Amino acid sequence: MAWEFETDPEFQSELDWIEQFLADEVAPLDHVVRSGYDIADPVRQKLIPPLQAKVRERGLWACHLGPDLGGKGYGQVKLALMNEMLGQTRHGPIVFGCQAPDSGNAEILAHFGTPEQKDRYLRPLLDNEIVSCFSMTEPQGGADPKVFNTRAVLDGDEWVIDGEKWFSSNAKYASFLIVMAVTDPDNPPYQRMSMFLVPTDTPGVEIIRNVGLGYQPAGEGSHAYVRYTGVRVPVDAMLGPRGGAFVVAQTRLGGGRIHHAMRTVGQVRKAFEAMCERAVSRATQGEMLGRKQLMQQMIADSWIDIETFRLLVMQTAWKIDKYKDYKRVRKDISAVKALMPRVFHDVASRALQMHGSLGVSHEMPFASMVIESFHMGLADGPTEVHKVTLARLILSETTPTSGMFPTTHLPALAAAARERFAEALELGLHDEV
Ligand SMILES: Cc1cc2nc3c(=O)[nH]c(=O)nc-3n(C[C@H](O)[C@H](O)[C@H](O)COP(=O)(O)OP(=O)(O)OC[C@H]3O[C@@H](n4cnc5c(N)ncnc54)[C@H](O)[C@@H]3O)c2cc1C
Repeated sequence: MAWEFETDPEFQSELDWIEQFLADEVAPLDHVVRSGYDIADPVRQKLIPPLQAKVRERGLWACHLGPDLGGKGYGQVKLALMNEMLGQTRHGPIVFGCQAPDSGNAEILAHFGTPEQKDRYLRPLLDNEIVSCFSMTEPQGGADPKVFNTRAVLDGDEWVIDGEKWFSSNAKYASFLIVMAVTDPDNPPYQRMSMFLVPTDTPGVEIIRNVGLGYQPAGEGSHAYVRYTGVRVPVDAMLGPRGGAFVVAQTRLGGGRIHHAMRTVGQVRKAFEAMCERAVSRATQGEMLGRKQLMQQMIADSWIDIETFRLLVMQTAWKIDKYKDYKRVRKDISAVKALMPRVFHDVASRALQMHGSLGVSHEMPFASMVIESFHMGLADGPTEVHKVTLARLILSETTPTSGMFPTTHLPALAAAARERFAEALELGLHDEV
């Protein structure tokens, strides 16, 4: 028997250290550092690097990476336990060197980068000396990459990139952008595009505007609408094989999706704790909110949602460690990805509702959590697309019935059983059950 739900004591002591460190040192930063990605901000530079040094000293820096890249090579189960803590603070991931999208970008650089590309981009990225941006989605459509039309055309020993990208997160802070562009329009749809490493200060890279999410004040957006006009990069700026952009993109998405889910467990737990505290602290019409059955239902439903979601995340993490093959867990990852926004949305909404007017205000985090739940249902593929993937994979493993009626058709099952047990049935008085 190998079913286990316990953490070994050695790793538990690391988790205990992380929990305390986050509460004492990292959580307060959420109120004073505007963006952990803005390495030009002197306040950020004064406060975050010393904490990163403590994390390195403890040996917990960039734990998603293998030892060859300076990480611990922790499997996904350990990462899940860590990430659900880091997700409770805005700056936890950057203090521990595992923030999106840099973690995924580092993964593809490690996987596909040439020695020169790794030296120029990967090393400083892993050390958080710089940050990066993944520039893939286009204004005319993100869920269907087949409609992308940003072009890269070879001109001598340079590629010339023209086009527009939408929601390129952190472009304004990034030293380089990873840009997906059509290089081979006559190839089959999934072999038309290639990936390029483009330094942000290359002439022709222009941020049209930085788009913010619904809860952010105007001017604080960090999801860039980017225009590339005649952007020239050398031939060796291509990341991965020509026509191989889909393969490169997929390499970063498997890990990226499950890590988002791990951090989301942390965020929903935070909302849930607030909800419970409110239920036992606020009274109306002579009794605590927690005494009212409709409020109790919110608590019970939220607990069930969170525990169900967490178990699915942990089981998926366990499968990734076991099979070491993201293709084999595509179904599980799509299921996690589809469940994540619903659980986040429902729990955050209940927490908001239970806090009344205070809950809906900007003095509590719930309104931003509700919007963030939509972020989780869009970035790295919309929920609908993941549900379609999940259903298709399930159905591809399902055998059609050979007869007219389903294999669960009761009369046929009963007839087969009666035939098999005919001798025994002769002893009884009844013909049919
Ligand atoms: C906060 C945030 C950060 C992001 N960061 C990045 C980034 O750094 N880099 C980057 O390149 N992109 C980024 N994105 C973009 C993200 O990848 C896209 O939003 C996503 O791919 C969906 O594309 P779209 O927004 O153009 O929606 P559309 O493609 O217009 O789809 C709109 C809606 O249509 C429905 N839909 C779509 N396809 C199907 C289908 N097959 N079946 C049924 N319904 C469907 C879904 O409800 C979907 O939400 C980010 C998005 C968000 C919200």
